[in-house]
Amino acid sequence: MNQNPLPDATLEERLAYIRARVAEAAAESGRRPEDVTLLAATKMQDAQTINRAIAAGITHIGENRVQELTAKYEDYDKDRCSIHFIGHLQQNKVKYIADKVDMIQSVDSLPLAMEIEKQCAKLGRVMDVLVEVNVGQEAAKSGVYPEKLQNFLTELAPFAHLHVRGLMSIPPVCQNPADSRHYFGILHQEFLDIMEKKIDNVHMDYLSMGMSADFYDAICCGANLVRVGTALFGARNY
Ligand SMILES: *Cc1c(COP(=O)(O)O)cnc(C)c1O
Repeated sequence: MNQNPLPDATLEERLAYIRARVAEAAAESGRRPEDVTLLAATKMQDAQTINRAIAAGITHIGENRVQELTAKYEDYDKDRCSIHFIGHLQQNKVKYIADKVDMIQSVDSLPLAMEIEKQCAKLGRVMDVLVEVNVGQEAAKSGVYPEKLQNFLTELAPFAHLHVRGLMSIPPVCQNPADSRHYFGILHQEFLDIMEKKIDNVHMDYLSMGMSADFYDAICCGANLVRVGTALFGARNY
């Protein structure tokens, strides 16, 4: 799918289009539109644009970089949206966001989980996290390899200030939807298998996969949280 099918439309029009596609995909996979959370991926967007998206109905935003998040933090319309961290997170930066985000979607190592535990214990809060899965086993990407996933999850069970709520993934870029669906299918199966195992402190509530180009396919394959940037805000100016 074209990442930005409505290049000349307003943000509100693009949001309506995305919502309609989300609803269609939800119906196709036997769910309701409200069963799928639409998260706006807000990297490179200013607070004003983000607040316009929130005013239009966006309830979840995701930032990639710690510095960007802290710079915009005071200006977000925070009462009306939940803030997630979705980018690669360095251990030494956890302290800057532990009091600011509602969820960290990108937990990919035990040392990172230990640091989140430590910072959240200090704050007396529990952080919801997703474990990032490197489903394509790509060397350049972060994330836990599928064969290590269940073992990694059991290692997170003892942490009192960290609560695993599901899985997140950025599968390899695929030219055709059938290939994307192959990876989404693997992730959905992992999600179901882990749910069945009933690991302590691990709840499979969210399967976060699908971006602008492939959120429709991801939802059809079981995603219940999609992270959409370009299709909502237009192409990013790097
Ligand atoms: C940028 C980003 C997205 C959104 O990508 P688009 O293709 O612009 O929709 C989703 N997830 C993560 C982790 C991202 O960094």
